[in-house]
Amino acid sequence: MTQTRAPSLGTPLQYIKGVGPRRAEQLGRKGLATVEDALFSVPLRHEDRTRLTPFCSLQPGQVSTCSGTIVGVSPPPPGRSRAPFSVLLRDASGYATASWFGGGYLARVFKRGQQLVLHGKVARYKGAIVIQQPDYEIVESGEDDRLHTGRLVPVYSLTEGLPQRALRSLMWRLVDAFAREVPEILPEVVRARRRLVTLAQALHDFHFPATDAGLAAARRRLAFDDFLLLQLGLAILRSRATRARGIALNPRGELVGRLRAALPYSLTAAQERVWDEIRRDMAAPFPMHRLLQGDVGSGKTIVAALAVLTAVEAGYQAAVMAPTEILAEQHLMTFRQFLEPLGVAVSLLTSSLAPRERTARRAALAAGEIPCVVGTHALVQEGVEFRRLGLAVVDEQHRFGVEQRARLREKGDNPHLLVMTATPIPRTLALTLYGDLEVSVIDELPPGRRPIATHARTEAKRRAIYTFLRDQIAQGRQAYVVYPLVEESEALDLKAATDMARHLAEDVFPDLTIGLMHGRLGFEEKDTIMRRFKGGEIHILVSTTVIEVGIDVPNASVMLVEHAERFGLSQLHQLRGRVGRGPWKSYCILLTSGRLTEEAQRRIDAMTATHDGFKIAEVDLELRGPGEFFGTRQSGLPEFRTADLLRDGKILEEARQEAVAIVSRDPELRDPAHRALRAGLLARWRGKLALATAG
Ligand code: ADP
Ligand code: MG
Repeated sequence: MTQTRAPSLGTPLQYIKGVGPRRAEQLGRKGLATVEDALFSVPLRHEDRTRLTPFCSLQPGQVSTCSGTIVGVSPPPPGRSRAPFSVLLRDASGYATASWFGGGYLARVFKRGQQLVLHGKVARYKGAIVIQQPDYEIVESGEDDRLHTGRLVPVYSLTEGLPQRALRSLMWRLVDAFAREVPEILPEVVRARRRLVTLAQALHDFHFPATDAGLAAARRRLAFDDFLLLQLGLAILRSRATRARGIALNPRGELVGRLRAALPYSLTAAQERVWDEIRRDMAAPFPMHRLLQGDVGSGKTIVAALAVLTAVEAGYQAAVMAPTEILAEQHLMTFRQFLEPLGVAVSLLTSSLAPRERTARRAALAAGEIPCVVGTHALVQEGVEFRRLGLAVVDEQHRFGVEQRARLREKGDNPHLLVMTATPIPRTLALTLYGDLEVSVIDELPPGRRPIATHARTEAKRRAIYTFLRDQIAQGRQAYVVYPLVEESEALDLKAATDMARHLAEDVFPDLTIGLMHGRLGFEEKDTIMRRFKGGEIHILVSTTVIEVGIDVPNASVMLVEHAERFGLSQLHQLRGRVGRGPWKSYCILLTSGRLTEEAQRRIDAMTATHDGFKIAEVDLELRGPGEFFGTRQSGLPEFRTADLLRDGKILEEARQEAVAIVSRDPELRDPAHRALRAGLLARWRGKLALATAG
C-alpha cells in the first residue's frame, strides 16, 4: 500500500479524480461536500429511457419522456423577447415542438442535428403538439452511453454550470467506487426480518436501478435507516428518562383542592382525565416526560397550574417556560391569580428584566425562595440555578426544540417535565417529533364555546368592518387588529402597525381607546398595555404577531387580521384562538389584498371551512411539507436524507418497532453487534445524543 491516503467516504469531492476546484464549487452549492454527501443525495426522479414515448403518441396533459433530433431552431423574433424559444424535433414517428419561455440563452446551446431527451408536460397549441418548458439533455455518444440512455436514468437537480450528463457520470463513478465501502449499520437479523436490501445495494440502486422494483427496494431501505436512526435516538432518550430515578411528588393535594374549589368553573372531563394522568406520573419515582396536547382554548393552563401546585406542596420548585415575553408575562398574571391567594409566590424571569433585578431573581431561585417562576428561554441560560426544581413546564412546545426542553430539565435533578402544545398532528408525525414523550390529549373545549364566525374579506369591505367593530365595542366587547411581518425588517413591520394604530385612533375611532403592542416595547410597557386591555380600558389592540400564541382575554370578540394571505395556516388558527374565549359570539375577519396565490387561497379557505385544529394541521402539513411544518431545524432532530413522512408512514412504524426492541435489550448500544449502528447513530445526531461510553 502507498502512503498517500486512498479516497474514502469522507474525502472532499474536490480530491476525487476528474473533479477540479470549479466543479467542486458547483457541487458545494448543491450542498455536496464529500463522497458520502453525494452517495446519499436524492435524485429528483428517474426517467425510464427504455420506454420513450414516440412523438405520435404524446397526449396533451401528460408528463412524458421522449427523444428526437433537432431539425429546426426558432428563437423569439427580435423585439419579442417574451415569446417562447422553440425547437422542432423529429423522431421515427413524426414531429414535435419543444418550447421554453425566457430561454434566450438556448440559442447558444441547441444546434440542428443534435439529439435531445426531453421530459415535460405535453400541450396542444394551435393544433400542434408542444412539450412545454421540458427538462432536456443533449445526447452525445461516449463511452458511458449506457448510463444515459436505454435504462432507468437518474436525473439530479442542477446548479449553474453543472450539466446533467456530467453530474450523472460523476455519480456513477462515486457509486461504483464507494457504495460498497459504506458500512452496513443494520444488524443482520433486522435486515432479514424486514426484508431489506444491504446498504451498499441500496445506494447503488437508489441512483442506478436496473428495475422499478430495485429502485423501490432501495428507497425503502434508505427511508428505513432514516427512521431507525431517529427512532433509536428517541427511544434511548425515553428509556433513559424512565430508568432515571426521579422525585415522587405525592402531597396530600391540599393546594390543588383549594384552587379547584376557587375556580369559577369545573374542569371538563378531558381536563380531569389528563390531570389524572399527570398526577400519577408526578407521584411515581420516575421523571414524568409528558406532552399535553390540546387545541387553542382547550384549557391547558389550569392543568399546568395544578401540576405546579403539586410540586410546590411537596416542597419543590416549579418553572414554566413560554416562547414569548408577552406570553410569559400573561402566564405570570394568570399564575399569580391562581397561586397567590394560596400563599404561593410567583416570579418572572425574562431577559428584559433590568440586570440588577435579574441577578436578584437568580439568587432567590438558587436559594429556593421562589416556589414558582415563569419565564422565557432566559430560564435555561447559564447561571440560572434552582435549589430544588421538581417540575418544568414548557408551553407552546412547538416553538422550542428538543435541546431547550432538555436544558430546562437539566436545571434540576431529573425533574418532571410537562410540555404543552396546541399543534395537533397525525400519529405518524407525533411519533417522530415527540417520540421521546408520553402523550395526553385534551379533546374537548370548555362548555358554551361557540364556533367563531370566520370571514374572508377584501379592502372594499374595510368601512363595513369598521362599522362592525364599533358595534361590537358598543356592546361592551373588545377587538384585536393584527399585522403580519409585511416587510423583511422588523422596523418596517412595526411601522405598518404603528401607522395603523395612529390612523384608527385619530381618523376612525377618535372616541375610543386604541392600544399598540409590539415586540420592541419594554417589559413595563407591554405589561401596562396587556393589563389595560385585559381590564377593558383599551377597546382595540393593534399588534404585530407577538400576540399570536397563548394570550387570553375572554372579553375580546373580534380578531381582524390584516394581510391575512401572508400568514401561515397554523398562525391564523392560533390568532383566531385569541377570541371566542368567553360566552359571547366571536368573529375572525381575514382581510386580504386582492388576488391571492393558489396556496394562500387554500389557507384562507381552510380557515373559513373548519375550526378543527386537527384538520387545519393536516392541510398545513400538506401545503408546507413536513420539514417546514415541523421547523425541523428548530426541533433539533436529525434531518431525513430520503424518508418522506407523508409517504412512508408504514416504514416509520416498522423502524419504530425495531428501535424499541433494540433499545430494550441494549439501552446504550454497547453490544459489539451494534457497533456500526451506534456509530451511524452518533453521526446522525451530531453530538445531541451523548451515548454512555462503550463498555
Ligand atoms: P389553551 O389551552 O389555549 O392554553 P387556556 O388555558 O388559555 O387555553 O384557556 C382558555 C380559556 O378557557 C381561559 O379563559 C380559561 O380560563 C378558560 N377555561 C379553561 N378551562 C375551562 C373550563 N373547564 N370551563 C370553562 N372555562 C375554562
Ligand atoms: Mg395556552
